[in-house]
Amino acid sequence: MDLTAAQQVLKKNFGFDDFRPGQRLVLEHVLAGDNSLAIMPTGGGKSLCYQIPAMLFDGITVVVSPLISLMKDQVDALNDSGIPATFINSSLEWPDIQDRLSALRRGDYRLLYVAPERLDSAGFIQALAQLPIDLLAVDEAHCISQWGHDFRPSYLALSTAIEQLPTHPQVLALTATATEQVARDICQQLQIDPQNEVNTGFARDNLDLTVVKDQDTDRYILDYLEVNQGETGIIYASTRKEVTRLTKLLTGHHIKAAAYHAGLDDVVRQQNQEDFLYDRVQVMVATNAFGMGIDKSNVRFVIHAQVPGTLEAYYQEAGRAGRDGLPSEAILLFHAADLQIQHFFIDQSEMDDAHRQQAYVKLQMMSQYANTQDCLQQFILKYFGEDSEPCGRCSNCQDHRQAQDITVEAQKILSCVVRLRSRFGKGVVAQVLAGANNQRIRDNNLSDLSTYGIMRGTSQKTLTTLIDFLTAGGYLQAIGGQYPTLHVSTTGAQVLKGETKVYRKMAQRVQRLAPVDD
Ligand code: ADP
Ligand code: ZN
Repeated sequence: MDLTAAQQVLKKNFGFDDFRPGQRLVLEHVLAGDNSLAIMPTGGGKSLCYQIPAMLFDGITVVVSPLISLMKDQVDALNDSGIPATFINSSLEWPDIQDRLSALRRGDYRLLYVAPERLDSAGFIQALAQLPIDLLAVDEAHCISQWGHDFRPSYLALSTAIEQLPTHPQVLALTATATEQVARDICQQLQIDPQNEVNTGFARDNLDLTVVKDQDTDRYILDYLEVNQGETGIIYASTRKEVTRLTKLLTGHHIKAAAYHAGLDDVVRQQNQEDFLYDRVQVMVATNAFGMGIDKSNVRFVIHAQVPGTLEAYYQEAGRAGRDGLPSEAILLFHAADLQIQHFFIDQSEMDDAHRQQAYVKLQMMSQYANTQDCLQQFILKYFGEDSEPCGRCSNCQDHRQAQDITVEAQKILSCVVRLRSRFGKGVVAQVLAGANNQRIRDNNLSDLSTYGIMRGTSQKTLTTLIDFLTAGGYLQAIGGQYPTLHVSTTGAQVLKGETKVYRKMAQRVQRLAPVDD
């Protein structure tokens, strides 16, 4: 495929000399007229993949994007680069929408940005049907999948909407976050041949991942901000209450911080967002309501004060650091107790049972991320179905403590799981190993097992941590949703047979940050 014309637009309208390799592949599909799916990390340059075709095609390119708050800015920026674009969303009055639609019919614009909610309206679809649309770009395409972490029902209207357009536009779906299952779902719903999927990988070479376990959250954050004075960042928490508390903590220490969560007044929320975007505040403390499409390039760190519910959500939120390509940090402050908050959210949600079980499984993966001693980036990439080498930069790659041989302990735990015939979860396994005497143990005659009490003297908490470690390391598998049972994996079986040894780094981690005075 000859990309000469595309290359000219790239130079003339955007001032860039070359496409990135992923963009080139996506453009080849799009310009050949194929429905396609582009999976590229945040900052990878997805927008050009439809903005350039929009300039080359005769008709209109419609961009479906949930980022209503950014549409105006995006459109203004395009107009500044000589690309006629407009948007239609709920912020506009009806006469204004009519004006824009007439201008579109006259051919005044090459790009039209719309919010997915618009597609729920039959009247709007009819208006679209009168336009010469030849490309439909679906941004944040993972929102279409109920298996994703950010499902939005209005995205389901997309496939029907496409069918109703007489021009049968081709589709380009784009996302920075899709497991294989979600990618399959996107392809199926938008009729994309999986062969036309371009996946440039999820690795973010400028993002250093860190997990910090069981440290005092407030202390850690204050220390971090002291060391990284003046740096801009986002601190995520799971609840509005915690957002409020942390914001107060920071402002109390004379750090310019603002809060963002769905419970705040619209005006306040908008104001806080703008203050952050325009560098009037240094730190945004937010729930996951904040961030989708926040195109702020100089975010240097994203700290999760509490663990989110899925690795996809985590990586997407963490990925808001370093869009400019400069070195940035993503830090997860992990306390096992915070998993309960996410558990509660799942319990309270209105998902059907299959999705609920899946949500529990995803939460387990999040917990394994926090407990693994392997490369964190590798762990995430593997979750998205990608093989990679250790990154050398994350807190696990940088953890140079001496590893200790814990094969014997591991064998005790694994054989206990075998003796329990994989019918129980980690709580019971820890109790049996510690030789606990409670109703559950008695009811199931578990004290008769040969492994009962073989780790007496080790606390149940330590045992649970060890089990988490073995699970994160793939020696054990936690199977099932809400109440997963433990199973020995193939690698675990090798450990039992003495074919594989297990090592664990255990000495106290050296404090990397200097203490601050209050
Ligand atoms: P994404 O939507 O994938 O997160 P964007 O489309 O916003 O990423 O692009 C991220 C940044 O990369 C933008 O600042 C954009 O101008 C820049 N960019 C995109 N493509 C190129 C290119 N071919 N050469 C140089 N810079 C590029
Ligand atoms: Zn690493």
